[in-house]
Amino acid sequence: MLDTLRRIIQEVNSAPDLEQALDIIVQRVRESVEVDVASVYLKDVEHGQYVLSATEGLRKDAVGRVRFGLGKGLVGMVGEREEPVNIEDAPSHPRYRFASETGENPYHAFLGVPIIQYGTVLGVLVVRQREHRRFAEQEEAFLVTLAAQLAGAITHAGASGDIAHALQPSANVSAVLNGLPGSPGIATGQALVVYPPANLGVIPDRVITDIDAEIESFRNAVNAVQDDMRDYANRMSSILPAEELALFDALLMMLGGDSLMGETIERIRAGNWAPGALRETIGQHVRVFESMEDSYMRERASDIRDLGRRILTRIQSDVPVSSVPYPQTILVGEEISVGQLAEIPVESLAGIVSASGSSSSHVAILAHAMGVPAVMGVADMPVGRLDGQMIIADGYRGDVFINPSQLVRREYLRLQMEETELTEVLKNISEQPSITPDGVNIPLYLNIGLLSSVENEMHANGDGVGLYRTEIPFLMQDRFPGEELQLRIYRKALEAFAPRPVTLRTLDVGGDKSLPYFPVTEDNPFLGWRGIRISLDHPEIFLTQIRAMLRASVGLNNLTILLPMISTVTELDHALLLINQALGELLEEGEQVVRPPVGIMIEVPSALYQVSAMAKRVDFFSIGTNDLTQYLLAVDRNNTRVAGLYQTLHPAVLGAIKQVIDQAHVLGKPVSVCGEMAGDPAAVLALMGLGVNSLSMSASNLPRVKWVIRSFTQDETRDLLQQAWLLEEPRAIRELYNSVLEQGGLGGLIRPGN
Ligand code: PEP
Ligand code: MG
Repeated sequence: MLDTLRRIIQEVNSAPDLEQALDIIVQRVRESVEVDVASVYLKDVEHGQYVLSATEGLRKDAVGRVRFGLGKGLVGMVGEREEPVNIEDAPSHPRYRFASETGENPYHAFLGVPIIQYGTVLGVLVVRQREHRRFAEQEEAFLVTLAAQLAGAITHAGASGDIAHALQPSANVSAVLNGLPGSPGIATGQALVVYPPANLGVIPDRVITDIDAEIESFRNAVNAVQDDMRDYANRMSSILPAEELALFDALLMMLGGDSLMGETIERIRAGNWAPGALRETIGQHVRVFESMEDSYMRERASDIRDLGRRILTRIQSDVPVSSVPYPQTILVGEEISVGQLAEIPVESLAGIVSASGSSSSHVAILAHAMGVPAVMGVADMPVGRLDGQMIIADGYRGDVFINPSQLVRREYLRLQMEETELTEVLKNISEQPSITPDGVNIPLYLNIGLLSSVENEMHANGDGVGLYRTEIPFLMQDRFPGEELQLRIYRKALEAFAPRPVTLRTLDVGGDKSLPYFPVTEDNPFLGWRGIRISLDHPEIFLTQIRAMLRASVGLNNLTILLPMISTVTELDHALLLINQALGELLEEGEQVVRPPVGIMIEVPSALYQVSAMAKRVDFFSIGTNDLTQYLLAVDRNNTRVAGLYQTLHPAVLGAIKQVIDQAHVLGKPVSVCGEMAGDPAAVLALMGLGVNSLSMSASNLPRVKWVIRSFTQDETRDLLQQAWLLEEPRAIRELYNSVLEQGGLGGLIRPGN
């Protein structure tokens, strides 16, 4: 059963469009369950119906014509109940509706299972049989297992087909893909697909002009792989058994033979670049081997994949990694790393579209900090087909339009103009202080990390820097930066903002930020070796960083140090000891360094319960709501599947923040919030009510937040908070604050999201 399931899913996954995917499903199901009829009904949301979308056994011309209202007929009943319905004699069931177009007269037995994705019914898979009988438990279990895996493949095939349709030269339709809002704003530009090296599966198609050069690069790569393999076979001839060596011969023959070489060259001649042509050829061969009955032959598919990987690595070692971006580049990828983002010149970067992740992924946060719109978690995006395509990415709603029509473009142009108008309105408050109408000053600091963002004129508005993510400059190097280089980087930031304070956070790598020159592979990276844990295990790296920070502030004295991921007092004491050590050494060396204020991030739940103990040791707290939310709610900040559960206005998150602020204030220590929550106008109302002392956010959010602060008294926000405590649902809390923004005339600031 496992084999059959695997094969069906594989075939469906490689179908180019929805129609073919559904045809494969009904054919394979009819064969493997040995039934008379297999059909798929898909939900047509617009018309509130289930539509017969593919069938094997019923009349084909009924496809698209037979429709059942939601909840109507046995198909509707399956959708409504969201569970299998197994009936011995369908026509005698009270919910049965006869559909004359299908020619279904003779069938009695009925088994329908829902096709569900992330809690939403997409359709119903139905099998029928002439005789009166209940389907057996194994048959039902097989279909349930299959349907559970089909949902993703169906959506993917649908998106793929829509895109293929939209990309036809004469097409005047656009394909729309739905993801999650990542960073607000609207981007219009051309897709540049980025992918990790030596991974054939994610290579996009790319149009080329110099076909001869491409063929030559491919031939060179194949020759090099042949040489490598011959060398290897020679070295291994005395160690490996004869049958393994025979396998090398077979692979070598395949490399030189017509099927692999010839087919790939043909594809290059048709206009695809060598990596894309190779991906197609290897994929085709792999599918042939995988569908073989003989398990030994099936295993050979992995040898072919390996061959493909080797050739690709050779091709890639010939080609410079970074491609020349378009003037308005929209980075598109299965997973976009912070490093890939940083490689694109800021002036060419229009937007980001990622198949994975959410608004709290680091790449989205960085995009936000740079004012670049991003759409995350576009799970069904056929990334490989998008290179060079015209795209509109709507970072407010999470929509992505491929090859947008004139109508869509015009609509977005209008939205962009409205946005510019709002920015103009907001500009007027840039000179105003961040003070509530009842006189409470809540300084607004900036989150930065890129050198270029230090020079950004928007920074003139901030009261300083509340979070400088020092791992960002580390990510752009090819080794750990030394003390002098770090000194220059930090000095630039401290000088740009002096005399305003600049909070440098010590290195926070691990989790989803890994340094190319310091790879860490773990099963659970967010619960692993991350942030301060790495720094304390590598005092040589930590001390170098602290020394550079302290020296960078000489004469300016506007440095503040922030420690990430503190979970125990022991870690804090150790870090403070090392800071003292660096300070002592520098003083001995005659440097005019002074002790800066030191604070910790509160982002691990254990720290919530030790605020008093920590407060005796530090000067301030900064709440990292991005991680605190993830750890408190047990929701991975990068996982699209659970993104709906990642809610910062959750009563538990608000309760945790209250606890930190109340405890810290008892000991007279100020509390800031530097997670994305601080830049979210609705959440700012809650944070004001909780009594937060300052906020730190992306430059693009600062004017909005200042507008909120200048519009509501702290007393008003305290009253609102009393109402919020009575609400038990995160959504209800958000609605409360959104309605308050609306009533206050700030409806334009409301954004979808958590
Ligand atoms: C946070 O966790 O809220 C935070 C600001 O740190 P980062 O997003 O860099 O993990
Ligand atoms: Mg964090």
